Amino acid sequence: MPHVNHNENIIEADHISFSYSGHEVLHDITLTVHRGDYLGIVGGNGAGKTTLIKILLGLLKPSSGTIKLFGQEISRFKDWAKIGYVPQKATNFDVNFPATVEEVVLMGRYSRRGLFKSMTGEDRHKAKEALEHVEMWQYRDRLIGDLSGGQQQRVFIARALAGNPEVVILDEPTVGIEQEIKAEFYTLLRKLNRELRLTVVLITHDIESMSKEAMHVACIDHTLFFHNSVDEYFKDTHAVIHPHP
Ligand code: ADP
Repeated sequence: MPHVNHNENIIEADHISFSYSGHEVLHDITLTVHRGDYLGIVGGNGAGKTTLIKILLGLLKPSSGTIKLFGQEISRFKDWAKIGYVPQKATNFDVNFPATVEEVVLMGRYSRRGLFKSMTGEDRHKAKEALEHVEMWQYRDRLIGDLSGGQQQRVFIARALAGNPEVVILDEPTVGIEQEIKAEFYTLLRKLNRELRLTVVLITHDIESMSKEAMHVACIDHTLFFHNSVDEYFKDTHAVIHPHP
């Protein structure tokens, strides 16, 4: 059963605006993600979704507004290992780089361990567990470049999981992935959210799949014009009609 703790805020964005060289792309966005939530962020191309995520990850600084992560002001937040991030172009990782699946997932331990510390038994155990969650353990010795796009995406999710995050943020993870694999992918995210109680933030164009999987929806088009449960989303025709996928 889904379990959302409304008393615990994992991400709080309060009146965020952002401009690239004087051109405002996000205006006055206020958004909260609770522990255990599964939030779908939808919006058309150029709506500002990726920019928003970069702000939430501290990669860009908002021109106004504040961010809190796990209740702490972002400038003082240190525990980045609590946040797993699967970027948009994960499948463009240089797949010719001669790394095995297991090695790629072990990279996800660096945020905990630091880059030049050697891997421990616990690191290997966590990498194994993460690969098992995404059902890719049997591929551990294969080169990442030899896998299909969908399989590679699973490995990148495992890499994010290996750091033992409490929230995982995925940016358009199903772009370029076949329909059938997409369905499996959503099943996997559901499992991570419902069974592992991982908080999930999913940026997507795929409104149909998202609406079946997510608990809440945030619609963005320069500003936030809808933020509510999936059920309310379908009652609100403006929200449904607005972001053309
Ligand atoms: P989305 O992820 O919803 O497609 P983005 O956040 O990538 O939207 O982009 C929002 C707007 O900001 C777009 O108009 C885009 O062209 C612009 N933009 C994105 N990145 C940059 C950048 N580095 N410099 C200037 N403008 C940018």
